[in-house]
Amino acid sequence: MLFQGALDLLFPKVCMSCEAQLHTGEELMCTRCRFDIPECNWTNPGDNLITDKLLGRVPLVYADALLYFEKRNKTQKLIHELKYKNQEHISKYLGLWHAEKLKRNAWTSTIDAIIPVPIHAKRKRDRGYNQVEGYTKALCQKLNCEYNDKLLYRKHYSRTQVFKNRLARTGVIEHNFILNPKAVKSNYKHLALADDLITTGATAEACFIQLSKLKHIKLSLLVMAVAA
Ligand SMILES: [Zn+2]
Repeated sequence: MLFQGALDLLFPKVCMSCEAQLHTGEELMCTRCRFDIPECNWTNPGDNLITDKLLGRVPLVYADALLYFEKRNKTQKLIHELKYKNQEHISKYLGLWHAEKLKRNAWTSTIDAIIPVPIHAKRKRDRGYNQVEGYTKALCQKLNCEYNDKLLYRKHYSRTQVFKNRLARTGVIEHNFILNPKAVKSNYKHLALADDLITTGATAEACFIQLSKLKHIKLSLLVMAVAA
């Protein structure tokens, strides 16, 4: 403890959102930011902003988001730190927070496994981590379900394909995923996909197009944040 105290004096921990110095017992975000950050607090997992965004596009049954994302709000700052500033621990932090809220809902008790949206191998090499992994693992641990990162893969692109995709810019071609049927277990009846941020829903849609090839499996979506 003494050592930790000395470390804190040398390198004071600051709030990820407002950069105020953190007090004892505060982790990652100060109490004020944690209070101010816009939480979704939805009451209907079958009818909300995300199910509306994806309505008619994929066979999504339930969805939930922890936070609202807006330009220059506290959520944007957190997601930015997570994705571009090497702050991988934000992922687990948001997963534990979201799980605490989801545990109270009956629908999450039937989830058999959660699948993190895979990122390109090159991006993972550059960033050093998949920013959704910590979040997904925390959810799995707290909701007692399996972590499955073998079910979906990103398609590997050749140079020419990447070039073509840059030209295309349609969103659909850029998000190509492959389903690995060998990673499907016979007990699966309800699977959830986990992602960091839903804006248009194009990435989630591309994943669900693959997952919906599995028959008689209910599909849900859990995300750190949704664009309001
Ligand atoms: Zn703060």
